[in-house]
Amino acid sequence: MERTLVIVKPDGVQRGLTGEVISRLERRGLKVVALKMMNVSRELAEQHYAVHKGKPFYDGLIDYITSSPVVVMIVEGKNAIKAVRNTVGATNPVDAAPGTIRGDFAMDIGRNIVHASDGPETAAFETSLWFSEDEICAYTRNTDTWIYE
Ligand code: UDP
Repeated sequence: MERTLVIVKPDGVQRGLTGEVISRLERRGLKVVALKMMNVSRELAEQHYAVHKGKPFYDGLIDYITSSPVVVMIVEGKNAIKAVRNTVGATNPVDAAPGTIRGDFAMDIGRNIVHASDGPETAAFETSLWFSEDEICAYTRNTDTWIYE
């Protein structure tokens, strides 16, 4: 089982899409194991997006993610990182397939509703950046045998 970080970004929260995002992940079979709403400090935003520092869109990205509350969660499942990325869709919504979150609800790369970790190292870094261990609920679901062989 993998764990990955998902953020409903300020535009997703403002547009009332938080439930839609969570619902799509849950209906796929992914399990939410941690969840909170919060305002993002510039310090946290800069740590989270450190890899993009110096890029032309960096300052706008930091302004965007700190502009209004986000809903952040840890999602668990078999190959969860890939499954979530596929459910979210391509970074630029105009390239995101219909049926993905970005392909169904977004228009612009700078307002793409959701963040999802892009690999095992970033998932480990991001889950520990946004959550402490005691905020994560390890639990079993009796539906798991109907989701996984
Ligand atoms: N971004 C942007 N302009 C760009 C590239 C990225 O505003 O030209 C933003 C966008 O919100 C994206 C985030 O920066 O989601 C992080 O970029 P990344 O390439 O890591 O995409 P993601 O992993 O979010 O799909």
